[in-house]
Amino acid sequence: MNNFDVLLEKGRNFHGEVCPGIVIGTRIAMAGMKELGMNPGERNRDLMVYVEIDRCMADAVQAVTGITMGHRTLKYKDYGKFAATFLDLSTGKAVRVSAAENKREPPKPGEKNDNNRPDMKKMVEALSKVPEEELLLIEEVKVDIGEHDIPGFPKFKTHCEECGDRVLDRREVIVDGRTLCKACAEGSYYQKI
Ligand SMILES: [Zn+2]
Ligand SMILES: [Zn+2]
Repeated sequence: MNNFDVLLEKGRNFHGEVCPGIVIGTRIAMAGMKELGMNPGERNRDLMVYVEIDRCMADAVQAVTGITMGHRTLKYKDYGKFAATFLDLSTGKAVRVSAAENKREPPKPGEKNDNNRPDMKKMVEALSKVPEEELLLIEEVKVDIGEHDIPGFPKFKTHCEECGDRVLDRREVIVDGRTLCKACAEGSYYQKI
């Protein structure tokens, strides 16, 4: 097995299957780490990754790079884009790797399976073989990372004056002089019943 296949297997184990998103995510992660001079498949303490979508691709990026939300090395940006930015915390160097969808031809009608749905196996094979310059756009970028977003012990803790919950890492909001959590200040995704 070559390196790509080994990394694809990591994605399969983590995600449960190899789908087009896992292939793209694996290639994105390999390209990003290569640009930073890091070894894909090995955990690197200085690597931080911002993923811009919560779909299959993100699982491959996690599996290949070893970054996790729990280590604060995985940041999720809800942009709905097949893209991720790889940041070397030791040097500040960062590259954003995105899937250059507009560069690629859409699947031909003949590439559908019996159920009239796109043939996953064929898509996976095709995506594995597309030359990198056709599949990915790699740009050097600058990332301003706040002191409360980096790995390590929390530098600041407070409590919400409305609900009493503890709030870490300066995620509180000051409204009319009161310290509030975001749920109390901006409305939450849940309703108490
Ligand atoms: Zn998937
Ligand atoms: Zn609150």
